[in-house]
Amino acid sequence: MSSIRLDRLGKSFAGIVAVADMDLNIGNGEFMALLGPSGCGKTTTMNMIAGLVEPTHGRVMFGERDVTGVPIGRRGVGFVFQNYAIFTHMTVYENLAYGLRARGEEASKIDARVREIAGLLDLVAFLGRRASGLSVNILQRLAIGRSAAVNPAIFLLDEPLSNVDAAFRAVMRAELRELQRRLGQTMVYVTHDQLEAMAMADRIAIMDRGVLQQVGSPIEVYREPANTFVARFMGSPSMNLLTAGVSDGALSFGEMGSLALADGKLALTNGSSVIAGFRPEDVRLTDPANARLRARAVFVERIGARVIIHFEDRGQSFKIVESAGFPVAQGDILGLEPDTERLIAFDPKTTLAIRGAVSHGLH
Ligand code: ATP
Repeated sequence: MSSIRLDRLGKSFAGIVAVADMDLNIGNGEFMALLGPSGCGKTTTMNMIAGLVEPTHGRVMFGERDVTGVPIGRRGVGFVFQNYAIFTHMTVYENLAYGLRARGEEASKIDARVREIAGLLDLVAFLGRRASGLSVNILQRLAIGRSAAVNPAIFLLDEPLSNVDAAFRAVMRAELRELQRRLGQTMVYVTHDQLEAMAMADRIAIMDRGVLQQVGSPIEVYREPANTFVARFMGSPSMNLLTAGVSDGALSFGEMGSLALADGKLALTNGSSVIAGFRPEDVRLTDPANARLRARAVFVERIGARVIIHFEDRGQSFKIVESAGFPVAQGDILGLEPDTERLIAFDPKTTLAIRGAVSHGLH
């Protein structure tokens, strides 16, 4: 079994908490992304899984095996760092064969495996080349191939694509995902890039300041963020978060207007206030004459196939995304119709989503 379980895992450096009481289950063969901003504790978590950092408390389990005190060399993990470590004086072939030779595998087996990995990672044309003359893109591919060649049951990658160029990164995302599926490995992938996590992972574990915020499939964390941190962190532009008052079954947005709710659809106390969360792509722009909410476009940003329209409400800015052909100019007053099925209410004090606050369907 190559499932991974983190059990109340924590690490402090000189009294500063890098990772706090983390509980996380990663299934056998699952691709899990560890996602969060710089300094949130992703690398420290990864290093504890790998055996490079000793936890302050808690356990790391691989299947039924407690590996907490086991050094990296005996954990059976493959590890690829941001800064690839490869032998530049060797050829690509020798680099790929290195781990297999160290294990004493038969020459014919090594050759077959090297060619298989080279094929999967598009390295066949470079097999005879010395690593020292190759581009960063190829070297990073080689670093991944070298770790993958020995077929570790658990494969750990820490920002492996951060040094490669954007076009190559897009190709590598798809290739890495394919590699992981074919080899059936359990993969933990550290990234600060939410798009990368969304594109690749089965599930995403989102961290902030050492604390795990939410674990879920890409669509779950996108559609059902557990709190305002996750709501802001996922998606680009991120989820709009506007203060709204609750009065007589309606959410009121100051001068913009209010969204009235069908009876019993809003389980929130009259007179309270919430943070209303809605995605920039989940609002329809309509004729302002008949719309429930109205706002003036303060800025219009055209980016390729999309137009991002910026608005302001009581000092809070928010954005709505339309396709490029949408007719809008700065200063226009537009009607806004949020998709109320997708609207989320957050508690302004705790920042947590209030589940069941809006039970599908504002009218
Ligand atoms: P980045 O994306 O910038 O690498 P990260 O999310 O991986 O960030 P970590 O590198 O795990 O975050 O760091 C988490 C916290 O622990 C940070 O505040 C960092 O300064 C601190 N930290 C990490 N390693 C050490 C160390 N060896 N000694 C002291 N503090 C450390």
